[in-house]
Amino acid sequence: MKKTLFFALPLGLSLLLSPAAFAAQDSQPKYEPRVAAHRGASGYLPEHTIPAKTMAHALNPDYIEQDVIMTKDGVLMVMHDPQLDTTTDVAKKFPNRHRDDGKYYAVDFTLPEIETLTVTERFDPKTGKAVFPNRFPTDSGIGFRVPKFEDELKLIQGLNKSTGKDVGVYVEVKEPAFHAREGKDITKAVIDMLDKYGYNSPDAKSILQIFDYDAVKAARDKGWKGELAMLVTKGGQHLTDDKKTHAWLMTPEGMADVAKYATIYAPGFTLLAEPTADGYKITELADLARKNGMKVHSWTLRKDQPWPGFKDTKQELDAAFKEIKLDGLFSDFPDVVVEYLEENGLRPKE
Ligand code: CA
Repeated sequence: MKKTLFFALPLGLSLLLSPAAFAAQDSQPKYEPRVAAHRGASGYLPEHTIPAKTMAHALNPDYIEQDVIMTKDGVLMVMHDPQLDTTTDVAKKFPNRHRDDGKYYAVDFTLPEIETLTVTERFDPKTGKAVFPNRFPTDSGIGFRVPKFEDELKLIQGLNKSTGKDVGVYVEVKEPAFHAREGKDITKAVIDMLDKYGYNSPDAKSILQIFDYDAVKAARDKGWKGELAMLVTKGGQHLTDDKKTHAWLMTPEGMADVAKYATIYAPGFTLLAEPTADGYKITELADLARKNGMKVHSWTLRKDQPWPGFKDTKQELDAAFKEIKLDGLFSDFPDVVVEYLEENGLRPKE
C-alpha cells in the first residue's frame, strides 16, 4: 500500500503538472526578428514611390516604411527629405522657389505643385550623379510621382486584401520641430491619419518612429497608443540641432527616461557595432535598451554599401541576428534579410 502510494503520487503530480509545464514552455517568446522594407524596395526602384512599395509588398517584409512630410497646404506626403532636391526635378520645374540655402522645401509647395514633379532614383543635386550607381537608372524618363501618405496606406491595405498577407506600416514623422516652426503639427496629423486607417493600437501592425525625443514624448499626449520607436543617431536631426539629446539617449539615464514612452530603441547600426582597426566591436547599447524593457531595431542594411568594419552582407547579418539579436532591421533589400532569416530558422518559410 505504502509502495503504491509512493508511485501513484508522483505520477498523479506529474500528470497535473505537465500541462502547466508545457504552457510555460509555450509562453517563452520565440526569437523571430522583424524585417522592414526601408523606403520600400528602394534597392530596386526609386525610394518612396508606389512601384517601390508594391514591389516591397511582394518581397514579404513584416513592415513597409513611410517617411512623412507635409505640404504648404497641409497634405501628408511620403518622402524622405523635407527638401525636394535630391529625388525630384523641382529645380528644373520651379527654378526660383528655393530658400536662401539653395534648397527647395516641400513645405513651401502645394499639393498640386508637388504632384507635377517627377521622382527619380536619389542623386547629388550638385553633380546630378546617382548616389547608388548600380540601382535604377536616374534618366529612365518614367513619371514616378510623390505619393500621398493616405494613398500609400490604401495601397498596403489593398494589397493585404488581394494577397491575403498582413504587411504592416512603419511610419516616420520627419523633422517635427522644423514643421512646428512652419506652423504645422505633423505628429498629430500622422497619428490622426493612422487612427483613421485602424493602426492606432498596440496590437495593430504599425510602428511610429521619430528622431525627435520631445516628439516621441508628445506622441503619447497626442493620442498614439501603438508601438513607438525612438530613433537614435550621433548626428541628431538635420534641421534641428539636438546632438546633445541623442548623446544623452545613449546613457543609462536617457535610456531609462525614453523607455517610459518608447517601446523600441532604434539606433543606427554603427552605434551597435562600432568599426575598429581590424573589424567591429559590439557595444553595450542593445543590452542597455533591453534592460529598460525596449526592443531593439536598427538600420539600414544595403548590399551595395556595407557598414564600416564589415566585409560583406553575410557578416553583417550574422552580427545583427546571431550576436546582437536585433528584434528588427531595416533594409533597402528586404528580400535579402527575409531569405537569411528563413535559411537560419528564424522565420517560417513563405
Ligand atoms: Ca526613415
